[in-house]
Amino acid sequence: MNQERIDYLLVGGGLASAKCAAELRQQGAVGRVAIVGAESYAPYNRPPLSKGLLLGYDQPERIFVFPSEFYKENEIELFDGAVASGLDLDNREVELADGRSLEYKKLLIATGTTPRHLAVPGADLQNIFYLRNLDDSLAIADAMRPGSRAIIVGAGFIGMELAAAFAEKGVETTMLVRESGLFTKLGSEELSRFFSDYYQQHGIQIIYEDEVKEFAGDDVLGAVVTQDGRELPADMAAVGIGVVANTDWLEGSGLEIDRGVVVDGSLRASAPDVFAAGDVAVYYDPIFQKRRRVEHWDNAVKQGELAAANMLGESRSVDYVAYFYSDLFDLSWEWLGDNSSVDDTVVRLNDKGEPELVYYLKNGQLRAAFLLLQGPDERQ
Ligand code: NAP
Repeated sequence: MNQERIDYLLVGGGLASAKCAAELRQQGAVGRVAIVGAESYAPYNRPPLSKGLLLGYDQPERIFVFPSEFYKENEIELFDGAVASGLDLDNREVELADGRSLEYKKLLIATGTTPRHLAVPGADLQNIFYLRNLDDSLAIADAMRPGSRAIIVGAGFIGMELAAAFAEKGVETTMLVRESGLFTKLGSEELSRFFSDYYQQHGIQIIYEDEVKEFAGDDVLGAVVTQDGRELPADMAAVGIGVVANTDWLEGSGLEIDRGVVVDGSLRASAPDVFAAGDVAVYYDPIFQKRRRVEHWDNAVKQGELAAANMLGESRSVDYVAYFYSDLFDLSWEWLGDNSSVDDTVVRLNDKGEPELVYYLKNGQLRAAFLLLQGPDERQ
């Protein structure tokens, strides 16, 4: 068998691995550092995939985390198109689907997530899109034609961002939402109502409390049939109904898995010298004193860097409050904290009547906050 030895092996070709590799070199890591990624691209930033790339104000070549010279100059090896298929903890080996095996001294698992798919009749028709990677985004951008009709399924991050991009591009956009409001995960009726009004003012139709029963068409999507019996003509559909962590390749390894790779507050997994970071990591958050998985850009940056420090022998713990942001039409907003068990919200309106601040409280203590900015330029 073809086997190589890597000192710092980072499995997953995304942002967390790129930041981890850079930080390892920055802090003087000696020996081989390698990133194993299933895609054929170097690590790139995902936020433009559902925003700027679709609207043309970001270009594919501008979204990479580092330019290709960076990896050469810092002696970071990129194993592109390499799929991890197994982990042998006893022998400290990662097996690749092509038969190679990589021995590690320290291992980072940053394999991210995969979109959950709708299992309904017609699910294999052409022009039904899911968005996770650069190729998905390019395919969606190619299909977005002004005047065409699109159904967006789901009103979480992907659904909200895609609907805005589609409408901005002149696509006739309908959101099919199984909940009774938009973005209900933000846990504020005022915010759901605000986004609902805003989206409808921007030409988006919204159907609440209904779900996909079937995708209809011959080879190519022609309509979305709903549980309530609607038949919505459609040239394309885009589905954003959540994600699952990419841990299949770890099955049988003995590593603790529970909705992701379970790690402590220092991102250490349940085996020696194994760490996890980013979307795939279910980490202990010492600030909120709970296990959580955070599927956002900022978390991948911070955890990639933190994992590097701890792989080099430090014992630093997560010390930041989870943060994320989104841009929707000309709106831009930010979020800090965790609203999962709050018992009260306080909303402050700006002079346009928009909810510019939402505080989420538990027993009178601040747990999370939503901030509406006036355009992306206001972001820190
Ligand atoms: P998401 O934000 O978790 O939202 C999923 C939505 O789909 C929820 O509204 C959920 O409703 C609904 N849903 C679940 N199952 C459904 C079904 N069978 N039929 C209809 N609706 C269903 O997930 P996402 O929008 O797919 O985003 C994927 C990932 O990308 C997330 O990890 C997200 O954080 C990340 N992302 C982040 C950003 C950002 O940070 N700005 C941008 C894009 C994507 P229920 O509440 O009823 O389950």
